[in-house]
Amino acid sequence: MAPQYIASHNLAALLDRLRRYGELHGPVRGDDEVVRFAAIAPGTLPDLSALRTLLPPKKYLLHPQETILNYTAAAGYQMPAEEVRPLILFGVHPCDLAGINYLDRVFLGDAPDPLYAARRSALTLIGISCTPDEFCSCHISPSPLNALTDLSLQSLADGYAISSGSPRGDELLEGVKEILEERDIAVPEDTRRFFGQVAAEPLRQELDATLPDWQTLADACLGCGACSICCPTCYCFDVLEFGGLDGRSAVRLRQWDNCLLKCHAEVAGGMSFQKNRAERFRYRYRHKFRGFGPLQGIPSCVGCGRCRVVCPAGLDLRPLAERLDEGRHEQ
Ligand code: SF4
Ligand code: SF4
Repeated sequence: MAPQYIASHNLAALLDRLRRYGELHGPVRGDDEVVRFAAIAPGTLPDLSALRTLLPPKKYLLHPQETILNYTAAAGYQMPAEEVRPLILFGVHPCDLAGINYLDRVFLGDAPDPLYAARRSALTLIGISCTPDEFCSCHISPSPLNALTDLSLQSLADGYAISSGSPRGDELLEGVKEILEERDIAVPEDTRRFFGQVAAEPLRQELDATLPDWQTLADACLGCGACSICCPTCYCFDVLEFGGLDGRSAVRLRQWDNCLLKCHAEVAGGMSFQKNRAERFRYRYRHKFRGFGPLQGIPSCVGCGRCRVVCPAGLDLRPLAERLDEGRHEQ
């Protein structure tokens, strides 16, 4: 099949046709000048010039706070009924697509999370190429996670090369074919390379708890947790249960948690698995650059750069990652 192409002036027509398949969301610049994933209003275009949104697409799959169980004495525990409608995310960058690949491994593994699974199966992903800035690290230490898409758009001078990555993508391409052109397109390296790039096998050795870096980082860190909230692969959550005043009902919630907050590792009796900030920092580093649990060896940093943009202390884990990967450590 010859490469498919869509001209920039046909983008609005493409969005209109995509709306037939579900609610259409993408990067939208608000009145406050902040770019967020949000509904793309008919007659408007998403902001495809923005390099990153405030929050990654994980908010659609793992809600910041949600009820996971309701309890009544009569019916026992029951999952909340949720109507999951088809959702199309347009203009997702390769790092965020790789982030969803990571979340899939966490929430669709041996014991799939029913809420995540339902939302994920209703989600269509349309990726778009981008060019990294100084905060990104996708091009320096590429993630071993593929950027999964149903459709991929590669930016060209006056339009986009468009290709399918799944049967759902094939269906979409068929549905919009009247606004596509077949062209002999040479996709430039600098837009193609960040899709589906596979990195070398990551290092697996345990981290040295005595490295002074942990304390140096901890001394500068304010413990605000912003770096974790905005991370496309941070998925820790807390589970809270509230009993009704009638003594016969209860609700169980889950809400995003944060490994840089002191309360994250606290357990009953005032104990904590990570009492000081340096331990919490090493824990976050391990997850982002080494992986743990069933995903040991798979780093979860997909290089989006959000944590570096939002950190009020200007902290950046990349230099430490480079030193540890090279097996050298400078004090
Ligand atoms: S650790 Fe930072 S750069 Fe890496 S995926 Fe998370 S927010 Fe993005
Ligand atoms: S954003 Fe910066 S200051 Fe806030 S918790 Fe993360 S590293 Fe610490």
